[in-house]
Amino acid sequence: MYKNLFDCHIHSDNSHDGHTSVEDICRRAVEMGLAGLAITDHAECQGYLDLVYQPRLLKSVADAAAAAEKFKNQLTVIRGFELGQPLQDTDLALELLGLCDYDFIIGSLHGLGGKTKEDFEYWAFMEDPNHNAHEKLVDYYNQLIDLAHWGNFDVMGHITYPVRHVKIDFSRYMEQIDQLLRILIQDGRGIEINTSGLRQGVGMTMPHLDLVRYYRQLGGEIITIGSDAHYLEHVGHSVDVGMDMLAAAGFRYVTYYQNRKPHFIKVE
Ligand SMILES: [Zn+2]
Ligand SMILES: [Zn+2]
Repeated sequence: MYKNLFDCHIHSDNSHDGHTSVEDICRRAVEMGLAGLAITDHAECQGYLDLVYQPRLLKSVADAAAAAEKFKNQLTVIRGFELGQPLQDTDLALELLGLCDYDFIIGSLHGLGGKTKEDFEYWAFMEDPNHNAHEKLVDYYNQLIDLAHWGNFDVMGHITYPVRHVKIDFSRYMEQIDQLLRILIQDGRGIEINTSGLRQGVGMTMPHLDLVRYYRQLGGEIITIGSDAHYLEHVGHSVDVGMDMLAAAGFRYVTYYQNRKPHFIKVE
């Protein structure tokens, strides 16, 4: 059992697809012996969900702040959010970023925009892996590179996200992944190990160990671990596996954020 377990990617019922109150999440985390967690509710900038995110984010951050006070002797509670597709509406993204005092921002890409307005999981090509998948994956990594250049986040979310829906031969995208990781490292940003793939049938974290090792070899130091829980029973799920991976990849420290600043704690 690790003593410094942080789950830095959790959705509460302030996310459109979340199901649990922040307080229940924190209670569960204390029971599990976690040292801390980040509430990172969704704001999807392309707007296809037709939701207004401002009140959700305000409530999420207020809930997290209240929980930080309530659980202050037991748990570090981080006020974050997951900024989805900011380049698809940068005005909205910047407005959301200025809305509250956040501790931590995950920058993510869940859909490519343009013709399709939906998440990867609804894409027809995912049902037929030979149809256009390569082209869209090239597009996906180009968009991640653009997102890294844009910045305005702390850690990039699940950098192998389409693996949830399509088999990927990563050797075909290594040039882009190399470029992406170098930009993030140079600009003082990080990546996460998203453990949700381990419970969703993908059977691997996002990214998987080879890429975590590669990031380390390039000089990457900032890495958070998150379950991406949307249900209470997934809080803290496989965060210890993420710690095993960090140790295996040669990391001596794991990261969490407060006030938009990375804190490094020993993998122990
Ligand atoms: Zn996400
Ligand atoms: Zn998420």
